[in-house]
Amino acid sequence: MVVTTDLPPATLYLEPTELQDMEVCPRMLDFKKHQRLVPKRTSPKLYKGKLWHIFLERYYTEGHKAAKAALTDSAEAEKRRIQSLVLMKPEEEAEFDEAVRLLEVVADLYDEWATEEDPKYFTRVIAVEQPFEIELVRGVVIAGRIDMVVEDRWGNLWPWDNKSTSSSNWPDDSLIRLNTQFRTYWLAVKSLAYAGVLPDRRVPGFVYNGARFNVKNPRNARTPLFYRRVVRFPEAAQDTITNNLVALVEEYRIHKDRRYFRPQPGQHCVWRCPYTELCLAEENQTDVSALRDELFVVYDGRPNYLRGDGE
Ligand code: SF4
Repeated sequence: MVVTTDLPPATLYLEPTELQDMEVCPRMLDFKKHQRLVPKRTSPKLYKGKLWHIFLERYYTEGHKAAKAALTDSAEAEKRRIQSLVLMKPEEEAEFDEAVRLLEVVADLYDEWATEEDPKYFTRVIAVEQPFEIELVRGVVIAGRIDMVVEDRWGNLWPWDNKSTSSSNWPDDSLIRLNTQFRTYWLAVKSLAYAGVLPDRRVPGFVYNGARFNVKNPRNARTPLFYRRVVRFPEAAQDTITNNLVALVEEYRIHKDRRYFRPQPGQHCVWRCPYTELCLAEENQTDVSALRDELFVVYDGRPNYLRGDGE
């Protein structure tokens, strides 16, 4: 496995989230990665997550005040973006405004919480939005960005991922440890340290930094709004994680060669997938083009990594 900024051209680029989607449902990955379909009607869960991510990125680079200003500006831009795609109903606009108000309160509470908690976890932020490329096998590059890399008081490095949820259930250690995205970040930081892109230090595990927004009045929430877990990975996990990623890439290639991405139904059809109607239409072999135009736009931006745009 190689990480360098000077990799030979790859035949296949995949992001950790894409491998995770491959695990959850290959067809969902096809809608996202190949057809590049983005729902016109953004779900509150998505815009809250996007805005929270922007807040934390700025929080750990420029501090609370700048992060709050970025949150407000980004919320206005996001609202304009949604309004350019669909006519927002009054109740949707009210829901959006209420979500932004809630996010602003949670942002203040996070500042109070993190001021006390952060020093227990790290002494220094080494990188924010750290890009990486791993040549997993010849010609196959896993590429992406890690929210943060921090250094603890013993000089160890920890990849760090910011997550938001609308549920009261936090993932336990085993779910974090088995998560493909998090495991890839661990592998990537180890490789970046080995390659000298990051300081050459031990990388004992991964930090999950969660926030929940399923409260009306965050200041009076009865259970914690924030959840931080440190999960350690044994050194030997490097081989099993690599094998797991290679198996997912092979599965991806089989689907791609057959030009058929199978549906993998489950609970995620309801809580995670925005393509349910399209998926059913494809199963019924009906003409999906009108439905596609009505519900989605085609994403024309760049991928979230250094170069290449996958296949
Ligand atoms: S509806 Fe379910 S099976 Fe269909 S693409 Fe979405 S997640 Fe996959």
